[in-house]
Amino acid sequence: MSKLVLANEGVFPITKDQNGQPLKDCPATGMSFSGTIQGEGKLAGVPSLFVRLASCNLRCMWALPNGSLCRCDTPYASFEAEQDLQLDTDVVFNLVKNNIGDLTHVVLTGGEPMLQHKAISVLAKRLKEELKLHLSIETNGTIFADDIARYIDLFSISPKLSNSDPNPEKLARYGLKTSGPLNYHPQKRKNIEVLQKYVDYCNANGKEMQLKFVVGQKTDYREIKDEFLTPLHDLSPTDIMLMPLGATKDELAVTSKMVLEMAIQNGWRYAPRLHIDLFGPGAGV
Ligand code: SF4
Repeated sequence: MSKLVLANEGVFPITKDQNGQPLKDCPATGMSFSGTIQGEGKLAGVPSLFVRLASCNLRCMWALPNGSLCRCDTPYASFEAEQDLQLDTDVVFNLVKNNIGDLTHVVLTGGEPMLQHKAISVLAKRLKEELKLHLSIETNGTIFADDIARYIDLFSISPKLSNSDPNPEKLARYGLKTSGPLNYHPQKRKNIEVLQKYVDYCNANGKEMQLKFVVGQKTDYREIKDEFLTPLHDLSPTDIMLMPLGATKDELAVTSKMVLEMAIQNGWRYAPRLHIDLFGPGAGV
């Protein structure tokens, strides 16, 4: 039986356990029912359930224009993935089945879910074939695998810019020492060969994708053009999105207008972060 390693949010937001029995606590959304909305990208506003996988091969630490730092918005699935849940794919399938109600969309996210592509493909196959659900996967675009790709409807790919690189000053401010992904993040975060595989796969198979860049600096548009868009071919301009850096309303207030202007000036789409507006920065929403 395949096992998935999930971040402690697991399948969320939910109100029933794997046997269909009511959970004693309300979801973190504060609502009395299962489900939330997708907050980002082309499907922003679409009612969805999320499955959050643990662990990531990157360690994003950004600088905001005001000099403050902002790291990964799901540190419990990357920097501090120590409270993982190991669940059989059958259990995860039953959690989705018992909580999906009238929803039609499931988002596989992380962390970096493609690290577990084999086990996720077992889950995704059942979600597609037995429940006929629309599946998105949210990935940093460093890994591609056919086994999961065939079951995915929307690839939401968020390649990371150099502003996400851990450097000695950032590490010192967080009290961290270089180890594992903190060391190799700068070399791994950009993989044009893998990104081109996603573009080619979507074009050949009629699948949807979005390249969603997290933007925190005024000069980021140059890096997006020179380092990512120039070497890629056959990418539709309507699939390029800019999302403001920030995991809280205060952080988004620093970046949103600058990113909006950059998106309009370059003819790219602006991607809001609706869930932060609606629910704040907490987990499980
Ligand atoms: S790639 Fe995503 S999950 Fe991984 S550290 Fe960066 S923001 Fe977090």
